[in-house]
Amino acid sequence: MRFDFLTIFPGMVSAFLAEGVVARAIEKGLISVHVVNIRDFAGDPHRTTDDRPYGGGDGMVMKPEPIYGALRSVGREGGRSQVILLSPQGERFDQAMAWDLARYDQLIFLCGRYEGIDERVRLLCADREVSIGDYVLSGGELAAAVVTDAVARLIPGVLGGTRSNLEDTFEGGLLEYPHYTRPEVFMGHRVPAVLLSGNHEKIRRWRRTESLRRTMKRRPDLLERAHLTREDEEILAALRGRGEVRAE
Ligand code: SAM
Repeated sequence: MRFDFLTIFPGMVSAFLAEGVVARAIEKGLISVHVVNIRDFAGDPHRTTDDRPYGGGDGMVMKPEPIYGALRSVGREGGRSQVILLSPQGERFDQAMAWDLARYDQLIFLCGRYEGIDERVRLLCADREVSIGDYVLSGGELAAAVVTDAVARLIPGVLGGTRSNLEDTFEGGLLEYPHYTRPEVFMGHRVPAVLLSGNHEKIRRWRRTESLRRTMKRRPDLLERAHLTREDEEILAALRGRGEVRAE
């Protein structure tokens, strides 16, 4: 899968690509990431990419022509690509959207700065407008990096054979169970005995119980939409019976 970042701050993206899961995925050839400097497509010697807003007011607006030029310079991989405009006004990014985007061959990110990008870019070029949350960042680069990271880890082979993403929080609609590693006792707090028991069935049931308990306490909204098995319903009934979670 290919990711293209269109930005006026290419250096911000390079740091994100240098280490971790995304860097290893690039090394293994499972993904490729290309960074296009929008300034290279400005039509003047000062490489201007922004201008004052029509109608007046504070701040600058990113001009459409350099972004359009940068977009046209990007090679399209296969038939399935999406141009994504990062914006706090977009559709909220979540795990379901990450899976949806992972179906494409190529994601092309338009990273805004200043007051944002001229509206005509959204109208003419963007397939989607995506927000990573209800807050305002200074630029779209971090948001595009967040989307890239979440999507890349869903691509087969990216997490290696040792790690499955299918138990992660939000997969299956629940928060994940808590994790422990050595030492057995830390500052007087012991690892739950069941995790040391070697009994795989008991461990599986404990993890499922903790996952349900956490979701019920922290994100009951998720539980309403989750696909629950009969065992899950039994565990929840037992938790409610013990008064551990609020009864509905
Ligand atoms: N004036 C814009 C508004 O009020 O909607 C905010 C512009 S923001 C300072 C500059 C750029 O950061 C945006 O064009 C967008 O690319 C990016 N950005 C800011 N917050 C974001 C968010 N929550 N999700 C995705 N991108 C965001």
